[in-house]
Amino acid sequence: GSTIGILGGGQLGRMLAAAAAQLGYRTHVLAPDAESVAAQTASSFTRADYHSRIVLDELAAITDVVTYEFENIALDPIVYLAAKVPVHPAPAALGVAQDRAEEKSFVAELGGRTAPWAKVESLDDLRAAITTIGTPAILKTLRLGYDGKGQVRLHSADEAEAAWNAIGGRPAILEGFVSFSHEFSIILARRSDGAMVSYPPPWNEHKDGILARSSLPAPAEIAAQWGEAAALAGRIADRLGYVGVLACEFFAGADGPVFNEMAPRVHNSGHWSIEGAVTSQFENHIRAICGLPLGDTGLTAPSVVMDNLIGDEANGWAEILAEPGAHLHLYGKEVRPGRKMGHVTRIGRV
Ligand code: ATP
Ligand code: MG
Ligand code: MG
Repeated sequence: GSTIGILGGGQLGRMLAAAAAQLGYRTHVLAPDAESVAAQTASSFTRADYHSRIVLDELAAITDVVTYEFENIALDPIVYLAAKVPVHPAPAALGVAQDRAEEKSFVAELGGRTAPWAKVESLDDLRAAITTIGTPAILKTLRLGYDGKGQVRLHSADEAEAAWNAIGGRPAILEGFVSFSHEFSIILARRSDGAMVSYPPPWNEHKDGILARSSLPAPAEIAAQWGEAAALAGRIADRLGYVGVLACEFFAGADGPVFNEMAPRVHNSGHWSIEGAVTSQFENHIRAICGLPLGDTGLTAPSVVMDNLIGDEANGWAEILAEPGAHLHLYGKEVRPGRKMGHVTRIGRV
């Protein structure tokens, strides 16, 4: 087989298509947006709604394996497709990652530590949750959140009603605020036969709920928790029979790593691996879903720093190009405040 289907048309899809092309695969991207970023790199592209059975049948007919680049895709089309063509990661993994309550219960069952949390389906539920969890706390929609969207911080019980309204009164979870020294992520790739590799963990710094920077090697606080976090991520992948790249976000807490959330896909905190690792997360995802041997995840340099270019930060690209050791990536999207427009990875000597 040699054609890979990719659902979703963003920069992750584009970087997957580029990695696939390098290994000699053709890619077919399916996305609802005509201005799709991934379409620029894919071998072929269909602009279509994911719910159209006719389009899904056609995609299954022209591809040998299908993957997706974002977790907020509807589950139904994935289930439908999986009956016709291998889909990786499997629908079951996507289902767990789409629901913050399911995700946290699942991880706790595997021995992972999470923030204290409670499911909230009404303003009364929220008030009750605040009495058990306390404040500060974060109210997050159960589904569909990303880049800190769909979440509100609560500093006191008085803010319950405003917070509930701010998330549109949708099903949610209330999470206790975790005090942590650093955030980091474990990114791994797993094949269907259980073979697995994982990357050294980046230190991830966020600004306004959006990833701003990932840097390696991680500071000592993270290095001390790497083993436990990587073991948990490995158990998550094994239990799900996971195929492809999986990203798990952690807080380095006082008592050890606290699991935040997972993404059943390549992850922004792994973009550094394009130039900073021997094998990028995108290549390892393609290798994993195609059943090829997985590649070395080691660093190519003593230090690697990836900075996201958000909104008009991408305007400084000319200066970045002039820097030795800086690798600029622009996604070719229309500028909007808070939108990820590109990233730059700087490879350093020490
Ligand atoms: P992503 O774009 O990573 O999918 P998201 O919208 O799903 O983001 P989270 O990862 O849950 O949101 O939260 C965004 C950021 O908010 C976290 O990386 C962290 O900095 C902060 N945060 C989230 N939950 C907590 C918590 N319980 N305690 C402290 N900080 C938190
Ligand atoms: Mg998320
Ligand atoms: Mg997150």
